[in-house]
Amino acid sequence: MSQPLIPPRGQHVDLRGYDPAFTGNLAKEQARQLLPALCERLNELQDTLYADRRFAVLVVLQGIDTAGKDGTIKNVFRDVGPLGCSVANFGVPTEEELAHDFLWRYHRETPARGKFVVFNRSHYEAVLVERVKSLVPEATWQARYDQINAFERLLVDEGVVVMKFFLHISREEQRERLQERIDNPKKHWKFRQGDLEERRNWDRYQQAFAEMLSRCNPAHAPWHIVPADHKWYRDLVVARALVDRIEALGLRYPGPFEHLAGIRVV
Ligand code: AMP
Ligand code: MG
Repeated sequence: MSQPLIPPRGQHVDLRGYDPAFTGNLAKEQARQLLPALCERLNELQDTLYADRRFAVLVVLQGIDTAGKDGTIKNVFRDVGPLGCSVANFGVPTEEELAHDFLWRYHRETPARGKFVVFNRSHYEAVLVERVKSLVPEATWQARYDQINAFERLLVDEGVVVMKFFLHISREEQRERLQERIDNPKKHWKFRQGDLEERRNWDRYQQAFAEMLSRCNPAHAPWHIVPADHKWYRDLVVARALVDRIEALGLRYPGPFEHLAGIRVV
């Protein structure tokens, strides 16, 4: 059994064709054993990326409420130290942010060469929540797909590796996770009444996700549709995709700045 991680280009993505509970016949125990080595490898790669200084890595995480964006960040980046990796969270825009073009607040958080930055929500909110809740007119969000593609093209041309992950969960899984936030006192802080209103927009969000996945999926900045009902599988898929992609960059430690032969430290 298999399921494409990257949706085929030039076709409309139908999310009903992607099983959120897919695990590729892998057992939870196996996944548990595979993840640590990938997390450590990611840390090594970040170190080399920093020394190499040719590339930066931008990880974009999107998914409906409770899809597991925070959990993915905690688990996949647990070994990557704070020197070269940071997270940018994007919530409701401030007045200052709203006074600028929609990409402004995202562009200034993109990674410098040598760094990892994880976008916890991203510029895609401009074609997700802003579309679903009619925060901008249709003509405005319609134009944004091309604007986002141009933005990502610029980043890639400048050495930023753009890795986009859509965490795909089922409606039933969201119901369970929201209920857990209501029932478990340690999770009360995560719950807002508005989350239930947002859940009523489920179908409209799925439609907006499908369009984002269809219209913003160029070869240089592809989407990965991550089956995310099982957290252990989700983490493994994201970690492995990142390791594979960054290994393919052929990163290297640069030689010494000066001629070192024969120098002895006394
Ligand atoms: P959380 O991810 O739980 O911290 O919630 C962040 C909230 O900010 C979510 O309810 C998002 O829908 C909202 N949000 C993020 N980006 C935007 C945006 N561009 N416009 C409006 N709301 C946004
Ligand atoms: Mg939330």
